[in-house]
Amino acid sequence: MAHRVDPETSKSVTAIYPGSFDPVTNGHLDLIERGAMIFDRLIVAIAQNLEKDPLFAVKERVDMLEAVTYNWKNVEVDVFDGLLMDYAREKNALVVLRGIRAVSDYEYELQMAMMNRKIEPQIETVFMMPAIQYSYLSSRLVKELARLGGPVKDLVPPLVEERLRSRVK
Ligand code: ADP
Repeated sequence: MAHRVDPETSKSVTAIYPGSFDPVTNGHLDLIERGAMIFDRLIVAIAQNLEKDPLFAVKERVDMLEAVTYNWKNVEVDVFDGLLMDYAREKNALVVLRGIRAVSDYEYELQMAMMNRKIEPQIETVFMMPAIQYSYLSSRLVKELARLGGPVKDLVPPLVEERLRSRVK
């Protein structure tokens, strides 16, 4: 039977995927791909003031994210300042997407999700798990590895590998 959308009940779901993305890794991309399949619109949102001493400027992070998400037509890249819930309301988002890699992520993410729910009960935090090979991967680890001259080839897209190499040498 053909799939039909009931105009009375159908709705378009926007999700926000917030983070520092300093820089974007294959783990982030794994989550973006999963999110883009499920949500109608996915906004990857770089938090301006989250990291005190970022390796890449916000503009550079936007450029890298835009380049590596180009093929997903329902994915956008944006920057936000201040409270995530204010930004999510402004974008009419119903969902905040977050990644859980290991049990160690859980406690912090639970706290944040509960605080965000208290601020805005209408917006739901949805957690997704990356493919197992990315479950140990973080931007922090990638930066450390790059600084020490270690191999980051399978951990970040080629463009990011290039930028990392020229940044840390
Ligand atoms: P933050 O600075 O808020 O931790 P990050 O940019 O590191 O932001 O990550 C943004 C989101 O992506 C977080 O929900 C984080 O758990 C998730 N994430 C980061 N790395 C991975 C990964 N390798 N696999 C799945 N999710 C990840």
